[in-house]
Amino acid sequence: MDLATVRQQITEGEALSRPQAEWLYQHATDAQLSELATSARDRWHAQGKATYLVMAIVNYTNICVARCDYCAFYRLPGASDGYLLTLPQVFERIDALRHLGGTMVGFNGGFHPKLRIDDYGRIFQAVRERYPELEFYEMTVSEFVYSCKVSQLSYTRGAQILADHGVRWVTGGGSEILDEAFRQRHSPLKHSVDDYYDAQRALLDAGLGSTATMVIGFDETLQERMNHLERLRAFQDEVGGQLPSFLCWTYKPHNTALGGEEIPIEEYLRWLAICRLYLHNFAHIRTSVLTRNEGALRGLCFGADDFDIPTEDEVTQEAGATIHHDFERILEAARAVGYEPIHRDPLALPSGPVGPRGGARCRP
Ligand code: SF4
Repeated sequence: MDLATVRQQITEGEALSRPQAEWLYQHATDAQLSELATSARDRWHAQGKATYLVMAIVNYTNICVARCDYCAFYRLPGASDGYLLTLPQVFERIDALRHLGGTMVGFNGGFHPKLRIDDYGRIFQAVRERYPELEFYEMTVSEFVYSCKVSQLSYTRGAQILADHGVRWVTGGGSEILDEAFRQRHSPLKHSVDDYYDAQRALLDAGLGSTATMVIGFDETLQERMNHLERLRAFQDEVGGQLPSFLCWTYKPHNTALGGEEIPIEEYLRWLAICRLYLHNFAHIRTSVLTRNEGALRGLCFGADDFDIPTEDEVTQEAGATIHHDFERILEAARAVGYEPIHRDPLALPSGPVGPRGGARCRP
């Protein structure tokens, strides 16, 4: 592998081939990956600066019929400790975030067999009306897929109903590894890769914003990880760069049927660099404080430019994630690796596809 050629491709914003990405992951040193990923990052963003916001993930229900073996959060319908938050309880959680100075709320629950798209629309409309100063990621693509199925609606119609209720953003959550063999092993009742992308496309076509995500550290192979990135990169090209950001986090194994060990931070950082390098058509690569705490800030040296500081998320906490409200400690970790953290406006919306430096670069 000729690193000079790779460097040249990165400088010119040219896509790396899959064999190049695989070789880099397997053979480049940490220092080389850091240097290359930083170079790719700096095509889009000011050197030495990173953006962040404080957010809560409100898990409105833990009732779920998907039974993914890597999940410690779900309860089957009828379980004594299953719950569905009332609207006042949702408001309480949002008020707690505001008290902490947070500005963004993501909603994430299970595949609840009784919640229809209309129900989601009404909840999100009420929330937006009550908190116009906050921004919301209203649901994940995965929940949207399931809710459309139980509502017996096409993705196009479901997306329109959400838009009619004022929903502005969903996230690409629930993707884990978008590879059919992986999904058959671990989440056969969830949804197919094709379903996921059909839903993403319908949401974007309805004018909603969305994001891309990935979770690593289960038992996935390098080929399965690369299948995820390859299809995502192609999709991003197909939709003209409408997905403003990509977030990769790591599997937490505690209390799950799958079990196992958490991957080392070094593996996460190397993969983050590959994501930045291979996903040359994504402006924002986000590093996961939620699952890696202060260690995630080292990701700024491996191609990431943005991070959330979470205040709560039962899904990952049930599986072993630890959340602290000492925000300064996180910000100091960013400074310690040479990046000035800048709080960003959660209400900023992209005005179209983002581009390298000089283009529109806002995103949630
Ligand atoms: S990961 Fe999501 S879809 Fe899978 S069991 Fe857990 S809550 Fe349900």
